Amino acid sequence: MRVLIVEDEKKVASFIKKGLQQEGYAADAVHDGADAVQTAVLFDYDLIILDLMLPAKSGLDVLREIRSKKPKLPVLVLTAKGAVDDKVAGLDAGADDYLIKPFAFAELSARIRALLRRGTQENTRLRVADLEMDTASREVRRAGQTIDLKLKEYALLEFLLRNVHRPVTRTMIVEHVWDIHFDSVSNVVDVHINSLRNKIDKGFQRPLIHTVRGVGYMLSDRPS
Ligand code: CA
Repeated sequence: MRVLIVEDEKKVASFIKKGLQQEGYAADAVHDGADAVQTAVLFDYDLIILDLMLPAKSGLDVLREIRSKKPKLPVLVLTAKGAVDDKVAGLDAGADDYLIKPFAFAELSARIRALLRRGTQENTRLRVADLEMDTASREVRRAGQTIDLKLKEYALLEFLLRNVHRPVTRTMIVEHVWDIHFDSVSNVVDVHINSLRNKIDKGFQRPLIHTVRGVGYMLSDRPS
């Protein structure tokens, strides 16, 4: 999952970015309102964290512009302590949730997970056949056995699980699992798919990760 952080206080932006990266998200940060709109429209983000007090363009204007172009993109607004009017205006302008600064990273992380599963039937569990991921505890199991994944393997599997039974291209994978500064090494997706296959499918009769010729990959337990 790839998140755009819009925050002019660079320390706060980098605190959020590091925290998200440690949880396996891809995260980009921009520091003013004009950049925010441009970046949000140009790239395919799964969620935006938006501070309201911004140079170049106010957070509320940013929110309205993003809303008009990407109505379904979840936006979590950050407001300064006590700025209740900001909060109300933010929700009126189409924010999906808000958080008052200062905040604990654990709370931000929980809100993000809640927003990402909105509109789906799931709780914190993503599942296909006997493979399941708990996005709250970050545990992955197949046939009841815990599987240890590295950060990017986890992020890749989460993306595949959120698109279960749908073929995804390597470009889609790169855009949701790696950040904007990622230098596209042509086989990086294939390398990570291979390591994931070794952990998820190796030793099991029915493979779940499928290569879709000419397209990319698909996670599924349906016969192809
Ligand atoms: Ca600010």
